[in-house]
Amino acid sequence: MNKETEICIVGGGPSGLFLGLLLAKNGIRVTVLESQTSFNRKFRGEVLQPRFVRLMKELNLEQRLEKYEHIKLFNAEIWNNKKYITQIDYEKEMPEAPYAIKIKQSVLLTFLYDLAKDFSNFELIFNAKVTSTIKSANRTVGVNALVDGQMTAIHASLVVGADGRMSTVRKTSDFSFKYKKEDFDLIWCKISTNEFKLNQ
Ligand SMILES: Cc1cc2nc3c(=O)[nH]c(=O)nc-3n(C[C@H](O)[C@H](O)[C@H](O)COP(=O)(O)OP(=O)(O)OC[C@H]3O[C@@H](n4cnc5c(N)ncnc54)[C@H](O)[C@@H]3O)c2cc1C
Repeated sequence: MNKETEICIVGGGPSGLFLGLLLAKNGIRVTVLESQTSFNRKFRGEVLQPRFVRLMKELNLEQRLEKYEHIKLFNAEIWNNKKYITQIDYEKEMPEAPYAIKIKQSVLLTFLYDLAKDFSNFELIFNAKVTSTIKSANRTVGVNALVDGQMTAIHASLVVGADGRMSTVRKTSDFSFKYKKEDFDLIWCKISTNEFKLNQ
């Protein structure tokens, strides 16, 4: 099977869907390919920083976002071994967008999709797993994807890899990968309130 689009975005996570929305708003025919069958996914973080809130304000989307289930966070405290260290005061950090937003990623993605699907030039295809890029004369001109289990060639003027850290687009293109080594690791997890109380 073959398909044509102007811009093909691989990955319907926050980056892919947001870019798709902005391109669609600008009249560009855009197809987002998402390997999962829905927006439900493993925990991927739930806090949008004030700079994201500022972006929402700039795009006049803040009120639309507020219709979806969320919590506003005005500050955050840092504790170590039951000792208070400091607090992050978002109002001081960014007076024009003085809070962060806690929102489930599935809810954020639904919000972005609800906005994007108003544009007839926007298309999101679930269950579309990209397996490789298509090359012609040393250029990437599309991707091969298993769409509902059927191999499909999607031709596009531009392919964007927004398929996360294990990106297939990156792996099957000729990009080199630079890893910046840090001298620390970050462990991120979600603990239920009950469990947290038990361990205090
Ligand atoms: C435990 C954890 C906590 C985090 N907490 C936060 C937080 O609080 N705030 C924050 O801003 N960020 C947080 N992050 C980072 C967060 O994951 C990113 O901000 C966000 O998910 C990145 O979005 P993305 O669209 O770039 O990539 P992803 O969310 O990884 O989306 C990539 C998408 O591509 C799809 N995909 C992958 N391969 C293919 C393929 N071959 N074909 C088609 N589709 C494909 C995936 O299914 C996925 O939907 C956290 C990450 C983790 C792991």
